[in-house]
Amino acid sequence: MNREQKSVDWRERAASFAPRTQAFIDGRCVPAKSGATFDCVNPATGKPLAAVASCDAADVDAAVAGARRAFEDGRWSRLAPAARKKVLLRLAELVRKHREELALTETLDMGKPITDSLKVDIPAAANCIAWYAEATDKVYDQVAPVPHESLALVTREPAGVVGAIVPWNFPLLMAAWKLGPALATGNSVVLKPSEKSPLTALRVAELAMEAGLPEGVLNVVPGFGYTAGEALALHMDVDCVAFTGSTRIGKKMLEYSGRSNMKRVWLECGGKAPNIVMADVADLERAATAAAYGIFFNQGEMCSAASRLVVHESVRDALLEKVVEIGRGMAPGDPLDPKTKLGAIVDQVQLNTVMGYIESGRKQGAELRLGGRRVREETGGYFVEPTVFDRVTMQMKIAREEIFGPVLSAITFRDAEEAVRIANDVSYGLTAAVWSRDITTAHRVAKALRAGTVYVNCYDADDITVPFGGFKQSGNGRDKSLHAMDKYTELKTTWIDLS
Ligand code: NAD
Repeated sequence: MNREQKSVDWRERAASFAPRTQAFIDGRCVPAKSGATFDCVNPATGKPLAAVASCDAADVDAAVAGARRAFEDGRWSRLAPAARKKVLLRLAELVRKHREELALTETLDMGKPITDSLKVDIPAAANCIAWYAEATDKVYDQVAPVPHESLALVTREPAGVVGAIVPWNFPLLMAAWKLGPALATGNSVVLKPSEKSPLTALRVAELAMEAGLPEGVLNVVPGFGYTAGEALALHMDVDCVAFTGSTRIGKKMLEYSGRSNMKRVWLECGGKAPNIVMADVADLERAATAAAYGIFFNQGEMCSAASRLVVHESVRDALLEKVVEIGRGMAPGDPLDPKTKLGAIVDQVQLNTVMGYIESGRKQGAELRLGGRRVREETGGYFVEPTVFDRVTMQMKIAREEIFGPVLSAITFRDAEEAVRIANDVSYGLTAAVWSRDITTAHRVAKALRAGTVYVNCYDADDITVPFGGFKQSGNGRDKSLHAMDKYTELKTTWIDLS
């Protein structure tokens, strides 16, 4: 434990926690027009944390109008890239400066361990904003190779008003993955955080103003999906929706676009990642650690969770023994304790979903090797043990559906072809991994996997420089890297006759 963590008494800070709770529209904190609020609940206690403005279509209208005004008058969209860079770099700095407050907010709001909020979520969000800030004045447009008597410019222009709709599992980080590239390219944004974790987004909107972002460029409308989210996705004056969330709601986004103005729709949706361990895995210990953290990190509430351990029958027993042992050492604890590795499930609904899948695994004949129970019930919070099922088959629900909880399904195979068949036999294609000491095997399997990211001899390695997104029903776009900037810009050809 480092000095910073030792010096902070998180429980004491939590006792005087006073988050921002109003919507942020056109540069001001405002209540919902209807006056309605909803309760944010601390998943570690089951108790209300804050009453937050519950935005609906009227608030979304006001936010979109503010965003549109800002976009059209060019206060941000036509600012020199170097000037936009300065503001976004200041924002990244302010996020870093307020990292303890933001980390506490994230942990109280969604139940993840404070050490993860402080060491992973908040620094990654700041880094993302800083990275796109730096990219702002380094990306060039193109001149096309057309005949001599013409000049054709291929330029990128901001899309306009972007509606960003994000989930609760990495609340600030998922918002940053949208805000970084969308703001860097000159768009105005209306951000709809999840009703389960809206608090860090509200604070960051304020920090953005402090950094010098002009009014109206970033708006935050907390509220439910079927009110604020639907109004935003159906809005006739929103040019682009950037969505991260479930595949079920992602499909609705496509419908909303078709029913309204054919706005661009970018989807980052669910996953059911296969983590393939070949017989010739070089380091079983490393593979076991990666398998355990791949499913238990963030309580398994990860789109990229390594939820299917696809393992060669010859190494299955040895590997599972190690995974079970690591899982046993990750019992859920108080998210405010810096030693806690596994926190609370986000809410009662998600808890019921996870417990339902565990029940279905049992009923369908999988062998429970670890966990399977709700624990720490006396706290009022929603905690589930790290859970490992063995002898899972691809006919079982726990092998096919995204659970979004700390539940691992082990499935065995006999040869590489079977491993690939099992891996690709789901509707998702977000992440996958293969462990082998043979470079040819590793490359052949990696090529055959239908996934946006394939890890070789590691899991969940991460850097802002690489694109992240899915094949199949995991989505249609990519967050992170320079590629993400394409989502928030329109290509324009300007053809000049020189004859
Ligand atoms: P969700 O689909 O329930 O909600 C996501 C967002 O959409 C929330 O803000 C929600 O309020 C909003 N929403 C819900 N219904 C809506 C509607 N009818 N109209 C408009 N908006 C609506 O997802 P969740 O439970 O918040 O998040 C978990 C999901 O997110 C998982 O499936 C996970 O895999 C996925 N996810 C994907 C990535 C990725 O990069 N691919 C990253 C993180 C999470």
